Amino acid sequence: MSLNFSDTEIAFKSKSNVAIKKAAWLFKSFNYPFIVQQGPLLAAWALKWHFPFIGSLVKGSIFSQFCGGETIEECSKTVNFLNHSNVKSILDYSVEGEENESNFDHTCREIIRTIDAAQQNSAIAFSVFKTTGIVRNALLEKLNPSSAKILETKKALEIKDYSSLLSPLEYKECELAFTRFSLICDAAAAANIRLFVDAEETWIQDTIDAWTEANMRKHNKAKAIIFNTVQMYRHDRVKYMKRLVEMGEDLGFYIGFKIVRGAYMEKERERALVMNYLSPIQPDKEHCDRDFDDALFYCIQNSKVAICCGTHNEESSLKLTKWMQEKGISNNDERIYFAQLLGMSDHISFNLAASDYNVAKYVPYGPVQAVLPYLARRAQENSSVKGQVGRELNLIKNELQRRNSN
Ligand SMILES: Cc1cc2nc3c(=O)[nH]c(=O)nc-3n(C[C@H](O)[C@H](O)[C@H](O)COP(=O)(O)OP(=O)(O)OC[C@H]3O[C@@H](n4cnc5c(N)ncnc54)[C@H](O)[C@@H]3O)c2cc1C
Repeated sequence: MSLNFSDTEIAFKSKSNVAIKKAAWLFKSFNYPFIVQQGPLLAAWALKWHFPFIGSLVKGSIFSQFCGGETIEECSKTVNFLNHSNVKSILDYSVEGEENESNFDHTCREIIRTIDAAQQNSAIAFSVFKTTGIVRNALLEKLNPSSAKILETKKALEIKDYSSLLSPLEYKECELAFTRFSLICDAAAAANIRLFVDAEETWIQDTIDAWTEANMRKHNKAKAIIFNTVQMYRHDRVKYMKRLVEMGEDLGFYIGFKIVRGAYMEKERERALVMNYLSPIQPDKEHCDRDFDDALFYCIQNSKVAICCGTHNEESSLKLTKWMQEKGISNNDERIYFAQLLGMSDHISFNLAASDYNVAKYVPYGPVQAVLPYLARRAQENSSVKGQVGRELNLIKNELQRRNSN
């Protein structure tokens, strides 16, 4: 079967007319800046004060488009629904709460529950977490310069390398944080579940890279279990990837990369401008696209590198399928996955899966109030300001038209 992303029949096969019309209404509403900017704030306020109906309004609209449920158990309907079309799930605990030790411990336990759920259900292909869900942002930032130095060497990471930077209290906190990080990686390795460490802002990313690499060295001896995320909107990432692949070859461990373009571009540029340092972001989208595609091409040629191509970009997804074919790599080679976010780019996910490629969707979940920041980002990303709304809305309109003409 030839791959065709414009096949909306496959993309929306299991969606009823009512469900599609509801999605159209939602994506249309993102054209109104007031809804995108004020909606999440108003919803947070109304939920805080227990306004009647607001919870069910949010849950029945934007939440149901982009989230699987409030708990792992509630996500099972979405997980089964996706699996029916051979699309796997990645449970993503998307709660952004207060930064304190008790919340961090709770999040750590919840992430380990997603690993347990994946072990029990082959419809869940990977686990994932954000380091800022289990470590204080300011601590990660403080560790960053030392982490950058650790990354320059092939030396194994030791928490005592950070000791000169930190007060005794901070040092204790750092030990606890790294223990949480390692507990999650250990649980994934013990369950044989591949784990993505999400990429975040550059001023904390060296620490995330250093901690992820330490766990790759420990757990990726026989295959890629721990995956680091590389953001190709950064101009230094191809070099970083090559360094890590070479290190893996020298020290005998496999590499897993989730390759994305990156989600914090404006924030990165703004900070670089205000603090007067060279922006880590590529000069333009073309450079970002070029490095994204180069990264895919580089990785698929190395049998010790596994990748997840995390994108809603049709061209990059198609290029990857073409290169796989040229290199004689089978569509469902375990080394290569495609991934999209729930509620977005179903035309890519479902058409790839129908052609037997490995595909997974991030399935975010958590209490409605706590996932509002995640939902606000989805609304912004899909607002007409960034042009995405055209893409999703057009697909929905095309499918409605196709159904009406049948
Ligand atoms: C499964 C999955 C996992 C993800 N995980 C992460 C993660 O861990 N960390 C993270 O940061 N993001 C993550 N993202 C988000 C991702 O980084 C992108 O923001 C989002 O997917 C949009 O990029 P695209 O490749 O889908 O599509 P496109 O629409 O082709 O690209 C848009 C992206 O291009 C880049 N870009 C746009 N304009 C410019 C410019 N002028 N100069 C340079 N670059 C530009 C930006 O990164 C922008 O988001 C993930 C996305 C998916 C689908």
